[in-house]
Amino acid sequence: MIDIGVNLTSSRFDKDRDDVVAQAQQAGVSGMILTGTNVEESQAAADLAACYPGYAYATAGVHPHDAKLVDPADLSAIRHLAQRPEVVAIGECGLDYNRDFSPRPQQEAVFEAQLALAAEHALPVFMHCRDAHDRWLAILRPWLNKLPAAVLHCFTGDDHALRGCLDAGLYIASRVGSATNGADNSFSNR
Ligand SMILES: [Zn+2]
Repeated sequence: MIDIGVNLTSSRFDKDRDDVVAQAQQAGVSGMILTGTNVEESQAAADLAACYPGYAYATAGVHPHDAKLVDPADLSAIRHLAQRPEVVAIGECGLDYNRDFSPRPQQEAVFEAQLALAAEHALPVFMHCRDAHDRWLAILRPWLNKLPAAVLHCFTGDDHALRGCLDAGLYIASRVGSATNGADNSFSNR
């Protein structure tokens, strides 16, 4: 059992991070993937994962909320991170038309750039999609046969959208998660 969406870099864990990891291990969690949401966080997630070798891994990517801040140097930083042994997926990336914290054209461009990066490095993608299903799937679909796996960790669609995702071979995660799987509940609207 692997927890693939852990926000272990959060300052909320500054006091008991090692205990949280130890408790997860005792509870039978055999590995965890720490979520990177921008360049700085992805760097921090990879560095933290390196503290738990063979147990913790990381994603490297830019959340749609942060798409407006991305420049070419950020994408090359993500590319660089993708080559680290701790980094096992590109993300969190995708579209969020619910909050719209970044302009939609920028969200789409940054999402597609990360799909290209994932394909280039043969890495899975860890995705976020909120209220953007049709556009998100249209951008994703041409890349799917170039990606080893694709997970949608934030799903807000209806039955029809769910069927579309499953037919496309995606893995789906619920928004309702455990204390450590807080990417879309208690941790900063992500
Ligand atoms: Zn998310």
